[in-house]
Amino acid sequence: MKNKIDYAQYANLSPFELKDNLIKLAQSRTDRVMLNAGRGNPNFLATWPRQAFFQLGLFAIQESEMSFSYMNEGIGGLPIKPGLTGRFEDFIRCHYATPGVPFLGKAFSYIRDQLGLDENAFLQEIVEGILGCNYPYPDRMLRFSEEIIKSYLLQQMGAQALNCEDIDLFATEGGTAAMTYVFNSMKENELIRQGDKIAIGAPIFTPYLEIPSLNDYQLVEVLINADPESGWQYPESELRKLEDPSIKAFYIVNPSNPPSVKIDDKSLKIIADIVEKRSDLIILTDDVYGTFADNFQSLFAICPQNTILVYSFSKYFGATGWRLGVIATTRDNILDKIITELPKKTKQILNKRYSSIVTEPEKLKFIDRLVADSRAVALNHTSGLSTPQQIQMVLFALSEMMDADQSYKAMLKSVIRRRDKALYRHLGLTNHTDENSVEYYTLIDLEKICRELYDDKFAQWILKNKNPTELLFRIADEAGVVLLPGKGFAVQHPSARASLANLNEYQYAAIGSSMRKLAEEYYAEYKTKNK
Ligand SMILES: *Cc1c(COP(=O)(O)O)cnc(C)c1O
Repeated sequence: MKNKIDYAQYANLSPFELKDNLIKLAQSRTDRVMLNAGRGNPNFLATWPRQAFFQLGLFAIQESEMSFSYMNEGIGGLPIKPGLTGRFEDFIRCHYATPGVPFLGKAFSYIRDQLGLDENAFLQEIVEGILGCNYPYPDRMLRFSEEIIKSYLLQQMGAQALNCEDIDLFATEGGTAAMTYVFNSMKENELIRQGDKIAIGAPIFTPYLEIPSLNDYQLVEVLINADPESGWQYPESELRKLEDPSIKAFYIVNPSNPPSVKIDDKSLKIIADIVEKRSDLIILTDDVYGTFADNFQSLFAICPQNTILVYSFSKYFGATGWRLGVIATTRDNILDKIITELPKKTKQILNKRYSSIVTEPEKLKFIDRLVADSRAVALNHTSGLSTPQQIQMVLFALSEMMDADQSYKAMLKSVIRRRDKALYRHLGLTNHTDENSVEYYTLIDLEKICRELYDDKFAQWILKNKNPTELLFRIADEAGVVLLPGKGFAVQHPSARASLANLNEYQYAAIGSSMRKLAEEYYAEYKTKNK
């Protein structure tokens, strides 16, 4: 290395902030391209539901112009109900050759024939919604949008045992907002208090480690550590920590980030057993990668009354810029029960807090408290996700539900799997994948690479003599490759997280090759020093 960098200064940085420093280094040379596998942002996206969105937008604009007398003046009116369906059907017929239009026609009949919804009212909701001409109402989620996303979630989360009437949704600005709202409302409603213990399934998406320790929350974190030797599943002994009644909540990402595996059936059973004994345990499951897994079952399906589900459309549909997420709770849930059992004094304070929005604040459901708290209660009437966002969300969900052969899913899986293979092949390792893996990310374990490429002694030497952060900086500097440190996600071993979602196959091959080259150089150094 040319210039000495003090790696200790980066010790407390979140991996996502450290990444910016790595990017700077990786971009510092003009003779090569940077390979940034640091971010989880996918480089693929679903095109059909977007085509449908824009075509629907054009139809909605026509409707608006038609309803106002000052035609062609750049002013439209609110869409008119009578005759809407007929005009929509004419639009579909006239523009059938235009990409996106047949999708709209199919969606229209799908929600009627398969979901049993009133197609005329649905059409009115999506036409008004896409124009964004009214405040979102109901504020938690538009009526038909909620029904459709419910069906989508129950299907995708393996929760077919639940019915749409059993659950409530709150549409949010991505999973990010969902997380923020849940943390905040749990605190405001004293479901978690300063000093409480919360369990966190590790390794995990960094914010789940960082938020609880903020001054706002001051929670005590108990890690439930997955075992790399058993395909990153949680050992029973770790899960049994949840039996400790002082643990208020369990926060988990499933399939995990970064190991990218779903919880296996055995562990799901153990968690169900624990919840039988600990009926007061609140579970927050972030299942944004659930749609990538085969036969996925969310904890929302296993322990519905205890679980808050967070889902996002960002990853699967390549829609990070859209900001589309959702929070789900069951109508019969322990959150509402715990709230009714709070000390009288606390309940009085809460009743006052929510008294401006309902006449019987003590009956306000947790999910509606989330909505109110998201806009500082006083702005509850203008809360909710923007209506065009909700319409795009609906079209994304419908595209998956109407895809009978699961062709989009199959395509994404094969793309990601090929990238994973290319990376490890060029690194010189065989990567065995298991059925629980979704391979959205891969964790490259330093010790394992050194041992498999050379031997155990070399692996020990590397661990003792090389700082893992330094290795990440070297690979950024010398090969232009950006990876994130596993440590920031509470991975116990020195490792790097590579996203398999945001570069192309040949670039993953190049990442594998440059890591291999670095290993060879270190091995040469080790040999000269250990003659
Ligand atoms: C990417 C990611 C999110 C963020 O989702 P957005 O919808 O883009 O805000 C949330 N949770 C996990 C585990 C993620 O990996």
